[in-house]
Amino acid sequence: MGQTQSEARQAKSAKRIARKETPDPQGKLLKDELAEIIHQAVRENRSYLMEHESKEILEGIGIATTGYLVARSEDEALAICDKIGFPVVMKIVSPDVVHKTDAGGVKLNLMNAGDVHKAYRDILETFKYQHIEGVAVQRMAQAGIEAIIGVTRDPSFGPLIMFGLGGVFVEVLRDVSFRILPITEKDAAQMIEDIRGSGILKGYRGQTVDLGSLQQLLLKISRLVVENPEISELDLNPLFLYPDGYITVDARMFVSEPAHHEHTTATGAESLHDFFYPQSIAVIGASDVEGKLGYNVFKNLTSHHYPGKLYPINPGKESLMGVRTYKSILDVPQPVDLAIVIVPAKAVESAIADCCAKDVRFIVVEAAGFAETGEEGKKAQERILKTIRKHGCRVLGPNCSGVINTHHNMVQSIGLLDDLKKGNVGMVAQAGVYAAGILTGLSNVLDFGIVATIGNKMDINETDILEYLSDDNHISVIVMYMEDVRSGKRFVDVASRAAVRKPVIVLKSGRTEAGKKAVSSHTASLAGNDEVNNAAFKQSGVIRARDNEHLFALTRAFSKQPVPKGNGVLVITYTGSLGVAATDMLYLSDMRLAALEPYFKQRLKSALPDYASIGNPIDCSFSMTPEQVKNLIEIGVESGDVSSFIVVIQGEILGSFVDVMKTIDYKEKPVMCVVACKEFMINDVMKMEQAGFPVYSTAEMAAEVLGQMYHYGVRRQSALTDSIARHLTKDAFSVDNNPVRLRLINPKDIGLWTDFVNSCSEKSLWLRFLSPFSATPERAQRFCNLNPEEEVAVVAEMKVGDQYKFLGIARLIKNKRCEGEAEYAIIISDPWQNKSLGITLSEQCIELAKKEGFKTIRAETIQQNYAMIRIFRRCAFNLDTKDENMVSMSLNLS
Ligand code: ADP
Ligand code: MG
Repeated sequence: MGQTQSEARQAKSAKRIARKETPDPQGKLLKDELAEIIHQAVRENRSYLMEHESKEILEGIGIATTGYLVARSEDEALAICDKIGFPVVMKIVSPDVVHKTDAGGVKLNLMNAGDVHKAYRDILETFKYQHIEGVAVQRMAQAGIEAIIGVTRDPSFGPLIMFGLGGVFVEVLRDVSFRILPITEKDAAQMIEDIRGSGILKGYRGQTVDLGSLQQLLLKISRLVVENPEISELDLNPLFLYPDGYITVDARMFVSEPAHHEHTTATGAESLHDFFYPQSIAVIGASDVEGKLGYNVFKNLTSHHYPGKLYPINPGKESLMGVRTYKSILDVPQPVDLAIVIVPAKAVESAIADCCAKDVRFIVVEAAGFAETGEEGKKAQERILKTIRKHGCRVLGPNCSGVINTHHNMVQSIGLLDDLKKGNVGMVAQAGVYAAGILTGLSNVLDFGIVATIGNKMDINETDILEYLSDDNHISVIVMYMEDVRSGKRFVDVASRAAVRKPVIVLKSGRTEAGKKAVSSHTASLAGNDEVNNAAFKQSGVIRARDNEHLFALTRAFSKQPVPKGNGVLVITYTGSLGVAATDMLYLSDMRLAALEPYFKQRLKSALPDYASIGNPIDCSFSMTPEQVKNLIEIGVESGDVSSFIVVIQGEILGSFVDVMKTIDYKEKPVMCVVACKEFMINDVMKMEQAGFPVYSTAEMAAEVLGQMYHYGVRRQSALTDSIARHLTKDAFSVDNNPVRLRLINPKDIGLWTDFVNSCSEKSLWLRFLSPFSATPERAQRFCNLNPEEEVAVVAEMKVGDQYKFLGIARLIKNKRCEGEAEYAIIISDPWQNKSLGITLSEQCIELAKKEGFKTIRAETIQQNYAMIRIFRRCAFNLDTKDENMVSMSLNLS
């Protein structure tokens, strides 16, 4: 019964625990001898590990379980009870029994030897016709909050982790959340937060759950599965959560030979820049016969004044629209950056072979008749793929409508398009018709930069384009219309990085369960397509739109208005009811009405007639005028609590607002307009939109969009701060034998910052700020709540008692007037000056500045600040200028 092997492992692991040996953080989480359980099962073609095997693995990585001992006789069962104490639980151990309770194989709460004897015999009797390995004897866990953690695999996204509360929550309500592996600490926290029942974990009849240890558990499972690809699925079901820790009551792992390739497209490292900005284009299949697609494509290129070289390829013509033609692309004497192929499907392969022979790097196949039509087309596509891989060129399509780049006057579309204005929206669309159809309508209210249609995405796919758009400085909002996500794992990677740079808004259709695969684990049965997509979007910070209307409501806002920096909103309306509608939706969106300071209230009052009610929302009644609104906004802009505006305007007089609204200085605070039934006032709405103000039909939509913008900003800042924090190479050292910690300052540090400033001598403060300086609440806000794109502050802190205390603060501030330059300033608390702390802190900031891509650091101080000048010299700063008061020093980082 192979017990000795397991016993040997048990003895070893007991020793491991006794020596409190923590697993090597760099090495694998699971020791080889335990990984062997998995390998062996795979070799034996078993599809899953039984409870005791799974729990042994879990215990081996420090996850608490009710135990994994197995008895092969009644005496052994009793011996185990002696070891672990009563009450105990006994369970059938058999490779044939998956659901133990249903089969009558779980005996709970056994109190004494008599119970154990009986349970043992009962189990043997019940399973006498099955293969029995033994009977597991384990501790009876105390009741706790039941939860489930699972892992399953998705063909596109790879392994996913699931968390939910047990029992009715998961069985009936399907109240679970998913993330794609690996997860970060933040993901773990967020997925606990995500379930509807999360309130129960935080406090239910006085009970709370140890969220910290639950997060650590999720992280461990993530690491276990990532490091051991043989684990295909896993269920910890149930898990009992306690105010202090947790215990795994049942565990099951499904194992299989790891799949070698998780479907990813092999993309070259080379950027797609020249694909979007080609210097020369050949159009294979260009035509001068109106109505032909080859005509439309070539016409679009000429009529939009494509600035590069054009080479129409047409064997029957001397010239097309005044441009010299060639019989074959091989006849073109100059190099060609990009070729558009718009010929009948059967001629496409030889056209592509010609492009390859000509060394064309990018090919856009607009021709249709491939994988979308059936087997033959699929095979043709596969042959093309082989050819292009061999030559290393990249292909968009087939069955697409090419690319539009208004910043390069390049329109490759199949449908004829009128003038397009240059805009900042980048869009990826699957179907060309979709892009063309909405483009015509939307171009009245929205200006696009780049539109790429991916068609059958044989090679270049949505993720490649997303990656490029996130790099293109003309683009500040990315919109994706997706039908399926291919190579989902790479999508999450790329989207996470893109969403830190600019908003990525996705409309994903196909929220159905169709195409569901054979299900083995419980977790897999809960992982519908849409749960997985949702997880992927949340995890990468992508904003998911409900439908087309929502998609473009968000796009117009992000494209035209800045992201609000706070959640206080001032609502200006002509009718109370729409003010109420806006208010409700603001609070549902985790936003709030700005609280007006008395001074601003007074000013607002004087800007309005007596009968108007002063508050927020401000109700101007039907006598609302553009000048009034201008006044109100200009007052509101000054208030610290107002971070954005919603203005509800009467449709009949909308036109009179356009010019006035343009003259207001909003000081980077966004404004959304609401016009009820705007579709009947569409000309004025278009004017307003073109002036840069998004107009919504409902106050709810305006409020919701504003909320989504604000929360995007918050996520973005926190992601940026995290990525900067990861660049701190040294976060702990010692000064005078005291352990000192380095980290970035954050908005929660207001108290510590204030204490620090109060503890500094007047002289130190004066040397740092060059004027008298003291801590005020406003300054504390200003110095702790930083926009990571503009400024970072690193603090050195030390633990005194159970409290931390700042010893010094250094700041890098982006110099807006000098690209690539950061200004540097540092202050050290008086007793810690001249102890190398300033140098260590400065060295770390220099490292950080390098990694953040700065080219130079500049520091200025007065000549008397000898201590500071010494630090800068030690860090190899050069003296740039010096007058009788100031020295300016700089360090070149490149
Ligand atoms: P299965 O899921 O195969 O039916 P489990 O091991 O999950 O079997 O047991 C079924 C239920 O019995 C669990 O959901 C849990 O409520 C209870 N249970 C099982 N083992 C223990 C234990 N060691 N301590 C306390 N309760 C247990
Ligand atoms: Mg179970």
